[in-house]
Amino acid sequence: MKCDKCKGGMKIKTVKMFGESVKAKVCSRCGYRLVNIDEAIKLQEKLLPKIHVERRVIKLGDSSAITIPKQLKTFFAPGEKVTLDFRPKDMEIKIRKAE
Ligand SMILES: [Zn+2]
Repeated sequence: MKCDKCKGGMKIKTVKMFGESVKAKVCSRCGYRLVNIDEAIKLQEKLLPKIHVERRVIKLGDSSAITIPKQLKTFFAPGEKVTLDFRPKDMEIKIRKAE
Protein backbone atom coordinates (compact mmCIF):
# COMPACT_ATOMS: atom_id res chain seq x y z
CA MET A 1 0.00 0.00 0.00
CA LYS A 2 1.19 3.51 -0.89
CA CYS A 3 0.82 6.65 1.19
CA ASP A 4 -2.14 8.89 0.20
CA LYS A 5 -0.04 12.01 0.78
CA CYS A 6 3.32 11.28 -0.87
CA LYS A 7 3.02 7.78 -2.44
CA GLY A 8 5.79 6.51 -0.13
CA GLY A 9 5.75 2.95 1.24
CA MET A 10 3.54 2.16 4.25
CA LYS A 11 4.55 -0.25 7.01
CA ILE A 12 2.47 -1.54 9.91
CA LYS A 13 3.93 -0.25 13.18
CA THR A 14 2.81 0.18 16.75
CA VAL A 15 2.58 3.90 17.42
CA LYS A 16 1.49 6.07 20.34
CA MET A 17 -1.68 8.09 19.90
CA PHE A 18 -3.10 10.05 22.85
CA GLY A 19 -0.75 8.05 25.08
CA GLU A 20 -2.09 4.66 23.93
CA SER A 21 -0.38 2.06 21.71
CA VAL A 22 -2.15 1.59 18.38
CA LYS A 23 -1.30 -0.42 15.28
CA ALA A 24 -1.14 1.88 12.27
CA LYS A 25 0.21 1.93 8.75
CA VAL A 26 2.98 4.51 8.79
CA CYS A 27 4.54 6.13 5.73
CA SER A 28 8.30 5.63 5.73
CA ARG A 29 8.77 8.86 3.78
CA CYS A 30 6.46 11.48 5.38
CA GLY A 31 5.31 9.73 8.56
CA TYR A 32 1.60 9.86 7.62
CA ARG A 33 -0.36 7.45 9.83
CA LEU A 34 -3.39 5.46 8.85
CA VAL A 35 -5.40 3.65 11.54
CA ASN A 36 -8.04 1.12 10.50
CA ILE A 37 -11.55 1.35 11.91
CA ASP A 38 -11.18 -1.59 14.34
CA GLU A 39 -8.05 -0.05 15.88
CA ALA A 40 -9.78 3.34 16.02
CA ILE A 41 -12.74 1.82 17.90
CA LYS A 42 -10.37 0.07 20.34
CA LEU A 43 -8.58 3.39 20.92
CA GLN A 44 -11.87 5.20 21.50
CA GLU A 45 -12.91 2.56 24.07
CA LYS A 46 -9.61 3.02 25.94
CA LEU A 47 -9.86 6.82 25.93
CA LEU A 48 -13.51 7.29 26.85
CA PRO A 49 -14.29 7.03 30.53
CA LYS A 50 -16.19 3.97 31.71
CA ILE A 51 -18.86 5.32 33.98
CA HIS A 52 -20.88 3.53 36.61
CA VAL A 53 -22.65 5.93 38.93
CA GLU A 54 -25.63 5.94 41.21
CA ARG A 55 -28.19 8.67 40.73
CA ARG A 56 -31.30 9.62 42.64
CA VAL A 57 -34.42 10.12 40.53
CA ILE A 58 -35.61 13.70 40.81
CA LYS A 59 -38.97 15.33 40.11
CA LEU A 60 -39.14 17.56 37.07
CA GLY A 61 -42.66 18.93 36.58
CA ASP A 62 -44.90 15.87 36.33
CA SER A 63 -42.00 13.66 35.21
CA SER A 64 -39.16 11.86 36.91
CA ALA A 65 -35.65 12.74 35.78
CA ILE A 66 -32.04 11.78 36.33
CA THR A 67 -28.93 13.80 35.58
CA ILE A 68 -26.16 12.69 33.24
CA PRO A 69 -22.58 12.77 34.57
CA LYS A 70 -20.55 15.84 33.59
CA GLN A 71 -17.90 13.71 31.84
CA LEU A 72 -20.51 12.81 29.22
CA LYS A 73 -21.69 16.33 28.42
CA THR A 74 -19.84 16.26 25.10
CA PHE A 75 -22.08 13.40 23.96
CA PHE A 76 -25.27 14.24 25.83
CA ALA A 77 -25.44 18.00 25.76
CA PRO A 78 -28.72 19.80 26.51
CA GLY A 79 -30.96 19.58 23.44
CA GLU A 80 -29.45 16.30 22.18
CA LYS A 81 -31.98 13.61 21.33
CA VAL A 82 -31.86 10.22 23.01
CA THR A 83 -33.92 7.08 22.85
CA LEU A 84 -34.87 5.30 26.02
CA ASP A 85 -35.64 1.59 26.29
CA PHE A 86 -37.10 0.07 29.43
CA ARG A 87 -36.67 -3.64 30.13
CA PRO A 88 -39.20 -4.63 32.80
CA LYS A 89 -37.45 -7.98 33.39
CA ASP A 90 -34.28 -6.29 34.73
CA MET A 91 -35.82 -2.95 35.72
CA GLU A 92 -33.22 -1.50 33.38
CA ILE A 93 -33.37 1.69 31.35
CA LYS A 94 -30.98 1.97 28.45
CA ILE A 95 -30.38 5.46 27.10
CA ARG A 96 -28.88 5.74 23.64
CA LYS A 97 -27.88 8.83 21.73
CA ALA A 98 -30.25 9.20 18.79
CA GLU A 99 -28.70 9.61 15.34
ZN1 LIG B 1 3.82 9.70 2.92
